[in-house]
Amino acid sequence: MPCDRVSLPRTSIGTDRFVTVHRFGRPGARPKAYIQAGLHADEMPSVLVAHHLCRQLGAADAEGRIIGEIVLLPLANPIGLDQTLMAKPLGRFTLADGRNFNRDFPDLAALAAPRLSGRLTGQPEADVPVVREALLRAMADWSANGEADDLRKLLLTLAIDADIVLDLHCDSVAPVHLYLGTPLWPDAEDLARDIGAQATLLAEESGGMPFDEACSTPWWRLPARLPDAANLPPACLAATVEYRGMADVDDELAQADAGRLVRFLTRRGVVDGDPGPLPPLPAPATPLAGVDMIRAPVAGLVVFTVSLGDRVSAGQVIGEIIDPAAADPAHARTVVRTRADGTVWSLASHAWQYPGNILAKVASPEPLPDKGAFLLTAR
Ligand SMILES: [Zn+2]
Repeated sequence: MPCDRVSLPRTSIGTDRFVTVHRFGRPGARPKAYIQAGLHADEMPSVLVAHHLCRQLGAADAEGRIIGEIVLLPLANPIGLDQTLMAKPLGRFTLADGRNFNRDFPDLAALAAPRLSGRLTGQPEADVPVVREALLRAMADWSANGEADDLRKLLLTLAIDADIVLDLHCDSVAPVHLYLGTPLWPDAEDLARDIGAQATLLAEESGGMPFDEACSTPWWRLPARLPDAANLPPACLAATVEYRGMADVDDELAQADAGRLVRFLTRRGVVDGDPGPLPPLPAPATPLAGVDMIRAPVAGLVVFTVSLGDRVSAGQVIGEIIDPAAADPAHARTVVRTRADGTVWSLASHAWQYPGNILAKVASPEPLPDKGAFLLTAR
């Protein structure tokens, strides 16, 4: 089980950073799977899953059961991991410029298209390797602007030619759930079933270019730029997998989650073996544009009247925000309602909330009006 330390370019004199990269199977073998955890460096449930996955894949490798190639980064963001303020980890945004570590990856379709003009045959078997090579070259030419971009470039270069890319994260308070490109569904239903996703949220583009979409969207953005690319398949199954909530750091749970990922990799022919029957789909896939992100209208102490997994109707009260300093406690509560018919799949973890903060998320089967171009929580 080779393990590399891949260095980031030095941006601060006296400080070196590196990412640990585990490799299983034979370089260049297919299918290639790339899996990372901790891009949001304070989301430890996903890091624990990756730790167990590393051990389980190591055991499979020792038995000669890795058919394809697997690249695994259990701790993908040494910059975010180094950010703390008054003993609190701050791994989601770059302290240097406030940008989200999981946004602003490059649009590789735009960068690769000029390299592909006149080179595609219309035959997927011939064209997919050509596109992968062009994506790698476009990545090599992409000018990183600062340390966080250096990290984006390092990670994307390791992942961009993979058949499967899984970016492991966690939410506030939530069950296991999944973000996927709409063109990948229903082909990727086995992923949702194998990992037990209680919500699967689909978007062709969610806005902001997160890591998984930087890997997947070129396959359906290129046809819009090149007529010869019309027959390209969505050749990279890239997904963001959310391993429950911030506090769900549990050794046994993470070990079982890693086992479910190995089962999926076995089903996809990356690992040799019998994956067994597909588990049932826990919940139907719904559009990301159908997610009601319910925001706090006022500041105060939030109490919920719903729980994860509850079915709710448009107009239903999902909680109340209490102003404990109100002159009259009888008039201290502001009710909060959902505008969607759907299922509650995320709740805020902090009891004290400010206006505009997201309190809860409800998945509904129909897109909601006024969602705009940015469907994710924060840029
Ligand atoms: Zn995250």
